[in-house]
Amino acid sequence: MARVVVVGAGLSGLACARALQNSGADVQVYESSDDVGGRVRTDYVEGYRLDRGFQVLLQAYPAVKRDLDLAALRVCRWDPGAILIAQGRQYVLADPRRVPQLALASAACPLFAMSDKIRVLQMTRRLLAIEDKDLFAMPDEPMADYLHRCGFSQSFIEMFIAPFFGGIFLETHLETSVRMFAFVWKMLAKGGTCVPEQGMGAIPHQIASNLRPGSILLNSAISELIRQGNKVVGLRVAGDVIPAEIVILATPFDVTAKLLGIDISLKWRQSTTLYYSVPRPLYTHRLITLLTDPRRLVNNVAMVTNVAPAYAPPGKHLLCCSISQGSTLTDDELDAAVRREIGAAYANEDTRSWRLLKIYRIANAQFEQRPGVWQQLELLRKSAPGVIVAGEATVSSSIEGALASGRSAADRVLNNET
Ligand SMILES: Cc1cc2nc3c(=O)[nH]c(=O)nc-3n(C[C@H](O)[C@H](O)[C@H](O)COP(=O)(O)OP(=O)(O)OC[C@H]3O[C@@H](n4cnc5c(N)ncnc54)[C@H](O)[C@@H]3O)c2cc1C
Repeated sequence: MARVVVVGAGLSGLACARALQNSGADVQVYESSDDVGGRVRTDYVEGYRLDRGFQVLLQAYPAVKRDLDLAALRVCRWDPGAILIAQGRQYVLADPRRVPQLALASAACPLFAMSDKIRVLQMTRRLLAIEDKDLFAMPDEPMADYLHRCGFSQSFIEMFIAPFFGGIFLETHLETSVRMFAFVWKMLAKGGTCVPEQGMGAIPHQIASNLRPGSILLNSAISELIRQGNKVVGLRVAGDVIPAEIVILATPFDVTAKLLGIDISLKWRQSTTLYYSVPRPLYTHRLITLLTDPRRLVNNVAMVTNVAPAYAPPGKHLLCCSISQGSTLTDDELDAAVRREIGAAYANEDTRSWRLLKIYRIANAQFEQRPGVWQQLELLRKSAPGVIVAGEATVSSSIEGALASGRSAADRVLNNET
């Protein structure tokens, strides 16, 4: 079978390479960085597992069921819902179907009217009944417009939806397309939200471990596609030319566009995450915490070790504070501002006892998924002869998008659609 070169060992490239190898193809993966995983990596710092930005795996993603062995990953589950901090007080809002022990507290949460809580159940029922592909055919509009039309109150949208989805889409104006919102809401409602016991980086490592030894070359950046006429016949790696019958680009959209020489008007969203070692858990629930003050810097806080104790050495606790955007503050300013804000939210907490482990500033975290983005993605999918474009940007900015794109690129090779 054809010699296939996959560029990029993120989830997309890995899923693609594995599907091809399983079908007998001769595959080589070139990865520019020093490990597999792309945006899904975990660093081991002083005995703590630090995911590069707060991330979770939604078990209901169709690609997860097909591509991952969740039992082997020993996934640890978050409870569906959140703790909301408003005016220095904490309120619980959890899915009563799946966390019955918090149903009463959720029903009694005074921040929102009962009508909002009923609308949540109605919307969930409605979206669960729609096929995934039909969610992506919904009229393309900002999610805020859809939520207003559903009748949710402004306070529910601002105090729950904005911080909750701010942590997912890395924007709090709710300008993301309703198609993506509806899909993610359905996935959240349908299955668990988890992290592998050993960190999110265990996910790409699981896929990579299924590849034949030597299939992945790290620290090998592709700088150019080599063409004969208009057909791509190879790639340039550190001055060497590598021949290839088929090239699969599983790179971020801007790298793909540059290699193909096309213009694309997608933009990146940024994320900033601070990890602290804290002497005791800030709270005991297996829930994330949302800050609801519209002037907040910190969007969400997660006591990661409440859910996945192995993220910290025995007896230690890991706190993750996420800011759903980039920040121009210096590390010291950012650290001080986060301690101030969380200290104000948790009156009894002496944040001076926290130890900052690391700050991650990720400039290229996800691409913006505003209405209209799907036409831009179409441009990327139209590649050159000899090239198949994979990567999340051919589907959606998510783990699902990455895995599905890798699979579908492999299918195109196997079906001779190049
Ligand atoms: C902070 C953060 C939080 C997130 N949270 C979630 C979440 O909770 N749930 C969710 O579903 N998704 C989340 N995502 C999104 C998800 O991680 C990505 O959509 C997905 O990992 C993208 O995978 P990919 O393989 O398409 O691209 P990437 O992971 O970007 O992989 C591309 C690979 O190509 C390599 N590469 C680049 N240029 C070259 C070159 N010239 N030559 C060779 N190799 C090259 C890169 O080094 C990289 O390894 C999050 C992302 C971030 C950053």
